[in-house]
Amino acid sequence: MEKKKRIALVAHDNEKRDLVEWVQYNWKTLLKHDLISTGTTGRLVEETMTAKAGGTPPAGLHMTRLKSGPLGGDQQLGALIAEGKIDVVIFFWDPMSPHPHDVDVKALLRIAVLYNIPMACNRASADFLISSPMLGEAYEPQVRDYAGYLSRTMPSR
Ligand code: PGA
Repeated sequence: MEKKKRIALVAHDNEKRDLVEWVQYNWKTLLKHDLISTGTTGRLVEETMTAKAGGTPPAGLHMTRLKSGPLGGDQQLGALIAEGKIDVVIFFWDPMSPHPHDVDVKALLRIAVLYNIPMACNRASADFLISSPMLGEAYEPQVRDYAGYLSRTMPSR
C-alpha cells in the first residue's frame, strides 16, 4: 500500500447517519486519500464533504461511486479487493435488519478478511483505524500463500 490509501466507505441505511457524522468529523483526513463507495453512501459522503468545505466540492476529493449496494455495489467492491485495488474498508453494516443482499454483504466481509484488508465495521473501530499513524504510511499486509491450495490434486475420473 502507498501512503495515499484507497478507502472504501459503505453504510447500510440505518447506519448512514453515523457514517455521515463520522465523515463530518474526519473529512480533512479523508481528503488525503482516494475514496470508493457504494452508490448512495458515496452520494452522501460527497454531499457531506462539500458542505464541510463551504458548498463547493473540495479540491482533492476523489470519489469513485459504484452501484448501490443491493444492486451489485458490494460485489463490485469485493471484486476490487480481489484485484488489489482497495487498501482499507469502512463498512457500517446494520446488525439489526435483514437485507435483500445479505449474501453480498457476507461475501464482502469474507473477501476483505481473505485479503487481510484493514476493515472497520463500527464507528469505534473506524475511529481507531483513521487515527492510526499507519494510515499515512506505506504498508504491506501479509497475505497468506495460497500456492498449495491452487496446486491441490483434483480427483481423476
Ligand atoms: P448504498 O449501499 O450505499 O448504495 O446504500 C450500501 C449497501 O447496502 O451495501
